[in-house]
Amino acid sequence: MEKCHQCGGLIKKVVGSVTLEGITINDLVFEECQQCHEQYFDEKTSIFI
Ligand SMILES: [Zn+2]
Repeated sequence: MEKCHQCGGLIKKVVGSVTLEGITINDLVFEECQQCHEQYFDEKTSIFI
């Protein structure tokens, strides 16, 4: 299990919608810190965005 780079909290995989630069993407799988809610995206998602 990876840990958050910001706070060292646990990162959990979640499915949800994300809004980036005014564009909303639904049903996106990403990882979110349970402590500070920092969101992490994998490389494929980053390219897509
Ligand atoms: Zn965190």
